[in-house]
Amino acid sequence: MKKPVRVRYAPSPTGAPHVGNIRTALFNWLFARHYGGSFIVRIEDTDVARKVEGTVETILNSLRWLGLDWDEGPEVEGKYGPYFQSQRLDLYREAAERLVSQGDAYYCYCSPQRLEEMRAEQVRRKQPPGYDRHCRNLSEQERKQKEAEGISPVVRFKAPLEGQVRFTDLIRGEVVFENNTMDDLVLLKSDGYPTYHLASVVDDHLMEISHVLRAEEWLSSTPRHLLLYQALGFEPPQFAHLPMILGSDRSKLSKRHGAVSIVEYYKQGYLPEAMVNFLTLLGWSLDDKTEIMSRQELIDNFSLERVSRTAAIFNRDKLDWMNGVYIRSLTADEFFNVAQPYLMEDKLAGEAVILDEKYVRDILPLIQERARTLTEVAELAQFFFVEELEYDANLLIAKNMSRESANQALKAGQQKLSQSEVFEVESLEAILRPLAVELGLKTGQLFGTLRVAVTGRTAAPPLFQTMAALGKERCLKRIEAAIQRFSR
Ligand code: GLU
Repeated sequence: MKKPVRVRYAPSPTGAPHVGNIRTALFNWLFARHYGGSFIVRIEDTDVARKVEGTVETILNSLRWLGLDWDEGPEVEGKYGPYFQSQRLDLYREAAERLVSQGDAYYCYCSPQRLEEMRAEQVRRKQPPGYDRHCRNLSEQERKQKEAEGISPVVRFKAPLEGQVRFTDLIRGEVVFENNTMDDLVLLKSDGYPTYHLASVVDDHLMEISHVLRAEEWLSSTPRHLLLYQALGFEPPQFAHLPMILGSDRSKLSKRHGAVSIVEYYKQGYLPEAMVNFLTLLGWSLDDKTEIMSRQELIDNFSLERVSRTAAIFNRDKLDWMNGVYIRSLTADEFFNVAQPYLMEDKLAGEAVILDEKYVRDILPLIQERARTLTEVAELAQFFFVEELEYDANLLIAKNMSRESANQALKAGQQKLSQSEVFEVESLEAILRPLAVELGLKTGQLFGTLRVAVTGRTAAPPLFQTMAALGKERCLKRIEAAIQRFSR
């Protein structure tokens, strides 16, 4: 590639970024990192009515959370700044005025009311929507008159009426649009703010963007932008339109499919590394089997050639599975550190962290084996922290056991365990396996009964490890409580 790679993520601060939006940021970032180029963040905040306070911070925090560092943009700045479009209004105005003076754009004085009537008429006549070019050929005198009436005009692009725009999309290949299907776009609004189209073209040019990687929904904007590049005498960047992301029912990803805002994924306890891996596979693949890849492997292998043209399906189960894989790959210390903020949000787990961090550190590896998200950790570990377990006493009676034999098993277990000095996995096993034989029970029966007694659950981490982590005192207390239940 001749020109240095410079790509941009250009969010509009109209709400917390959703999954698709962040996937665009991620693909731009991977592309920049793969080619040793620059990743630029540009805030497209020219739609004043849709701006939502605080969103810029949320966007930047989401990038930071995922480890997508930017080389130029808010906070870090750079020589192509400012990186907020609202601070670049003069540049857009100049471009618009230049287009008008060249005869490639014109002032349009149509009132919102007229435009509305026009649209209604088009609907009635089943005509395609679009501006009817009413002001395209106003005479100088008509123009002056409108000005004298005090109407602030918008600037519209004079789209060519015939011909075609052709370009090679780096993902989709040859794309052709007929010029006569294109509207005379508004470039500058009457309040002096540019529309997305003008601002995007001017900035991509001035910021020397080499490749525009954006969502497929912008594909139909690209021919319009190319006409603008041509009229402005700018060399256009290369374009690549990323496939859509659909829910598992193949409809557009929306709230119905669970969280759509990336912030939710943090709140729900997903790890950024898992998220990066998962999001990269939404539309890109290394081959038809590799799923787990480190950040560096993703950077090394990323290429547009392997971005798919067909829509990607957002599979929540796969994300959960992948997050579990990443959780299990952490060291015990790392897991404690990432789980801690989530534990602190839970009353009992939070107290345990404060009062007995060592105990929490001892039990966490057992949970790490099973958890798929960090929010699950407190719930899965809950039985370690409660003073008195609540469960249905019938659960103590394991398969093919009577109440009597369960009760007997608990009493025998209590007696043996109370005599044991050490309370570790091996010693517990050495005590409890022979005990099952002695009682004429299957190990599954004895262990099942004990499991419910010490955890209150039928499914829990491995029994001996759990008992060792709980410690002798807690285990005996819980077994005694189970026996009490039978005598009630
Ligand atoms: N501001 C647009 C968005 O939020 C950017 C589209 C583009 O990348 O050109 O999606």
